[in-house]
Amino acid sequence: MDTMPRSVTRLIDEFHRLPGIGPKTAQRLAFYLLRAPKLQVEQLSEAIRDLREKITICAICQNIAEENPCGICRDETRDYSIVCVIEEPLDLVALERTREYKGLYHVLHGAISPVEGVGPEDLRIKELLARLRDGRVQEVLLATNPNLEGEATAMYLERLIKPLGIRMTRLARGLPVGGDLEYADEVTLTRALEGRREV
Ligand SMILES: [Zn+2]
Repeated sequence: MDTMPRSVTRLIDEFHRLPGIGPKTAQRLAFYLLRAPKLQVEQLSEAIRDLREKITICAICQNIAEENPCGICRDETRDYSIVCVIEEPLDLVALERTREYKGLYHVLHGAISPVEGVGPEDLRIKELLARLRDGRVQEVLLATNPNLEGEATAMYLERLIKPLGIRMTRLARGLPVGGDLEYADEVTLTRALEGRREV
């Protein structure tokens, strides 16, 4: 016999499916919303709905955006000759915070990870190669995470792109090994950008 209304258990189940949310937290969140002002709950559900309805993927850089092409790809003050390859949209946020990088980006949406069953075909690599064909890009800056998956992805891209005769660079070492770019502080990231090395 159910001891809780279906609509409550359903919300608890949905919260529980989110990363980092255990059963206790899921319950707490559901009961919080049950008692919260109606307006707050409406704003939350609207924010969740908008996330999927308004967000699209930029056809050029593959970043999440509300317009296509995104603001960065349309910004004519940026340096179109360099493309920085990153794993996740949050890495772009971290690099933009440094105000050091003025080029364009390409978001792979992940990294090669045999353990997790992620192969090159699951990443936005085809789209990257297509971009490089127009001859405008003169440098590809590999800024994947300094961990096993990030290294494997960078090496894979090196093998693919080098034969195209495009200059390839990588962020300088000094980023915390095993860490994620998105958590690196601005000073460390700025140094990594300034000291980027040829590959
Ligand atoms: Zn874009």
